Amino acid sequence: MQYSQCDRIERLRERIENRKIGDDVCFFCANHYEKSSMSMEHVFPRWLLEKFNIWDDKIFLLNKTTISYRQLLVPCCVQCNNKHLSKIERDVKFVSENGVKAVADFKLSLFLWLSKIWYGMLYKELFLPYDRSIHEFGNILDGEIINQYCDHLELMQAARDEIILKDFDPFSIFAFECQTVDTPSLNYDYLDDAITMVSAMRMGKVGIIIVFQDGGAQRGFADALYKEVPYPLHPFQFREICSKIIYKESLRDRTPKRMAIEAPGQIPQYYQLPLLGLSLKPYYRTWEMEPYAKYLSAYTGIDIKDIYKPPDKIRTWLVDGNNQPLYIPFTN
Ligand SMILES: [Zn+2]
Repeated sequence: MQYSQCDRIERLRERIENRKIGDDVCFFCANHYEKSSMSMEHVFPRWLLEKFNIWDDKIFLLNKTTISYRQLLVPCCVQCNNKHLSKIERDVKFVSENGVKAVADFKLSLFLWLSKIWYGMLYKELFLPYDRSIHEFGNILDGEIINQYCDHLELMQAARDEIILKDFDPFSIFAFECQTVDTPSLNYDYLDDAITMVSAMRMGKVGIIIVFQDGGAQRGFADALYKEVPYPLHPFQFREICSKIIYKESLRDRTPKRMAIEAPGQIPQYYQLPLLGLSLKPYYRTWEMEPYAKYLSAYTGIDIKDIYKPPDKIRTWLVDGNNQPLYIPFTN
């Protein structure tokens, strides 16, 4: 097939939109390969499972069943696995060892890495039956659902240097110092929300939360949030902050606009248009306590009755009764 020099973006989009699902298609780049060029990739990398001793821990799937981290493998081409994704793994491993201060230099790697995990989880669900005893129900996810995330998969190709995100982050990232204890598995936590596309991981002394697709809109609230938490977080506090960020993202009323520019022989460059643009519509709808309480309950596992008293009394673990930052010691 002959291609002109200027249709890389078109080909990339076509490849992603027409992706096939199978053992011979890479979950990450959506290219089709001979079986000999394919490998199986751990959605959550081996170094992470080793470091926090969570190989046999379980994680929830969308149908509320669980699967062990060990079993979360997806088909991945050798090139993505050995070249592009392993560079990102090295960066994130460095952050996990060096804490919050290392985050600024590796924002893009963290975004791509958590995206890989988030997308890899969804992708895995294409292969798993909804009900393991009744196969007629089909699998947990079907190809149509995964196709809703074509746009995100396209951005993820920045990991393969197929596109360049030029002077902007399509995401908001938050990093918090977290307390640790002697038991490795307690120093780890992961959660995500498929609807708002927010993903969070606490790995040792650093907790990362990323809003994948807000164009950086929540970053404006980061300083206020950091002021509320001058101490290293207790795991529960990390979950409370996740709930706040996920709920906030559910209130977003505008979609960031990007454009892609491609010059002959150059890697396509993506730009983001100014977030507020010309519209006067507020970026977020109004925060309300009751729906927020539902998120807080879902992500902390505490019954809503125990955290919310209508119309606006809600529990917090971030500040005390005098609105002063709260330090909660984390013990084994
Ligand atoms: Zn690949």
